[in-house]
Amino acid sequence: MDWAGALSAVATAVGIAKDLREIDQSLDNAGMKARLADVISNLADVRMALVDARDEAIEKDREIDRLREAFYWRGNLVEVNGFKYESFEDGSPRGSAFCPRCEQNAGRFYRMGFVVGGAHKCPECKTDYMRVREFIWDRKLI
Ligand SMILES: [Zn+2]
Repeated sequence: MDWAGALSAVATAVGIAKDLREIDQSLDNAGMKARLADVISNLADVRMALVDARDEAIEKDREIDRLREAFYWRGNLVEVNGFKYESFEDGSPRGSAFCPRCEQNAGRFYRMGFVVGGAHKCPECKTDYMRVREFIWDRKLI
């Protein structure tokens, strides 16, 4: 059940409850019980809808966290000679470059490996790049 269904079920339950409040003597006990059963059934539907909505909201929160993290990570990349790198806190490049072809074609970041002959190769698209700089990974090791 979606939000529209949940709201509709709530409206129905409220409507029935109002009817019961304005009850007159013409409604017998059996009629009253039948109306109460309708209210309970509607409220059960609402409860299920709210559980679904809560689960959806949790899932969306997780997705937002993931996107925030990815956005933050991407925003901290630095570019050197057309290649993007992770950065240290002061903004200087760190480690190996990411493949620009894969970033442009798929929006994904694959760190390139170093191959014999001075070229760098993307592990995903297998493109070779020349003149790609390498930077240190950890300043504490120096
Ligand atoms: Zn690539």
